[in-house]
Amino acid sequence: MDYQAILNVIEKELEHFDPGGKVPDYIPELAKIPADKFGMHLYCLDGKNFSFGDHDERFSIQSISKVFTLALAKKHGGKKIWKRVDVEPSGDPFNSLLQLEKENGIPRNPFINAGSLVIADILISELENPKEYLLDFVREISDDPTIEYDEKVAASEYQHGYRNIALVNYMKSLGNIENDADDILDFYFHQCSIAMSCCQLAKAFVIFANEGKTLITNKKVIGANSAKRINAIMQTCGFYDEAGEFSFRVGLPGKSGVGGGIVAVHPGQYSVAVWSPLLNEKGNSEKGMKALEELTSLTGLSIF
Ligand code: GLU
Repeated sequence: MDYQAILNVIEKELEHFDPGGKVPDYIPELAKIPADKFGMHLYCLDGKNFSFGDHDERFSIQSISKVFTLALAKKHGGKKIWKRVDVEPSGDPFNSLLQLEKENGIPRNPFINAGSLVIADILISELENPKEYLLDFVREISDDPTIEYDEKVAASEYQHGYRNIALVNYMKSLGNIENDADDILDFYFHQCSIAMSCCQLAKAFVIFANEGKTLITNKKVIGANSAKRINAIMQTCGFYDEAGEFSFRVGLPGKSGVGGGIVAVHPGQYSVAVWSPLLNEKGNSEKGMKALEELTSLTGLSIF
């Protein structure tokens, strides 16, 4: 497969594509990102990689981080995490409070904000220094020690994080939060602030395409079973209330973030990251989704 030729077609086809939408202004630091950024990077499991555009520029990974924290919670929290968070699509916006009351403070899945806050709580209980541990994990799987938290983005989100503050306190009142709400929010806002490029993200996500093993070094960092299960949750819950649409159009497990990034995985073949900051009303990068739809259409390959 000539992936570079296919990526070149996607870049050209979408050069003048106007996705509409807007950059997220509820996190003021993210509202400053130029809307016309566009890049894509694909890593095959043999290390060959292909790219275009702003693929090397770092951006805020936001909710994509929820996949990393889930991988760590599965490793350190074991099966008991599924007593505290479910694995069903939510059909509701990422920051919704609605279902929590009806469902006794058990979030629908680990990829909506409430679910990821519970995962943060688990990591704080299980790990000595969870912020450092998470960063080390992401650096290891990306094979890049320069990856950092963006303190400005974390602080900006904390100042305007009313919904997440409400979510964590509400779940605490329902008995599904163990630790101090401030510690959980500090960890959560930092995980969302991690700055990575499409190139770094695609490399990191190889573990989900490669049965839990890192690129090239083939080090097993999570179990093959974990990779399988996390891919399944990405497939059904990776795009909030647009998970069905992404699955229908692209046909791969994936995860988006309000920083405009999307990562998708073709198990056994490749992982791919795309970045375009304008978000549709569901909070997903419209041009990113279009680029991935083109990828699976032009290659004729998806998991279906
Ligand atoms: N930090 C964002 C929030 O909690 C993440 C949301 C997202 O990327 O979808 O609102």
